Formats: sequence, C-alpha cells, structure tokens
Amino acid sequence: MSAECLFCKMVSGKIKPNTVYEDSDVLAFRDINPQAPVHILVIPKKHIATLNDLNQRDEDLVGKLITTAARIAKESGVAESGYRTVMNCNADAGQSVFHVHLHLLGGRVMRWPPG
Ligand code: AMP
Ligand code: ZN
Repeated sequence: MSAECLFCKMVSGKIKPNTVYEDSDVLAFRDINPQAPVHILVIPKKHIATLNDLNQRDEDLVGKLITTAARIAKESGVAESGYRTVMNCNADAGQSVFHVHLHLLGGRVMRWPPG
C-alpha cells in the first residue's frame, strides 16, 4: 500500500472504480479513458510500482493478472475475435500510473506495431 498511489486508493476503497472482478489478490476495473470498446485494467492488490520492481515471489501473482484478463476477455465476448494485453513500464512505454497493471483491450482491430 502506497498512500499516494491512485490504484492503491481503489484497492482500499477510498476511490471507487468501475469494478469488473475482484478477489483477494487482484482487482479488475474499466479504464476511465478507454482506447477500445473493451478496455479493462487488471491490477495486483499489492503495490508494485513497475515491472522492474517484481521479484520471483511475484510470479504467481503476475500469472494471475494474465489468467484473470483471459477470463474477463471470454466474459466480455472478445476472446474469439481477439484482444491485446499490455503492461507499460516507465517513460518510453508511456506508463502514467506507477502501480503495475495489465491493460486488456478488445472489441476492435489492433494495429501492429503499437505506437
Ligand atoms: P498506463 O499509461 O499504462 O500507466 O495506464 C494507466 C491507465 O490508467 C490509463 O489507461 C488511464 O486511462 C487509466 N486511469 C487513470 N486514472 C484512472 C481512474 N481513475 N480510473 C480508471 N482508470 C484510470
Ligand atoms: Zn499502488
């Protein structure tokens, strides 16, 4: 928990996200500025600032971000058409919230390479 962190405030309930899924390890909610018809963020409840701050003990947790996103993709009806998962790290990738999160984007055709 980091007092100044926006996503920690969502985990603690101080700020109420548009929640899609929650359990003891992860929280998934709709992105406030969606870049696709389906744009959901999946975050660990534990505060980890960037991918650079992960350690081996976090491997199960990071795996759970992905399996949670895959399940939400199915529930959102984009699993068959396709979707993209993205984790931005630091400035060059455009990370703007420094609490690890996985973007689930779907419902439209994605371009490659990403900008
Ligand atoms: P990133 O740029 O990879 O760090 O992604 C941060 C994401 O958080 C962006 O897509 C923002 O639109 C999203 N975001 C910022 N504030 C909120 C909020 N209050 N509720 C939901 N999503 C948010
Ligand atoms: Zn945090």
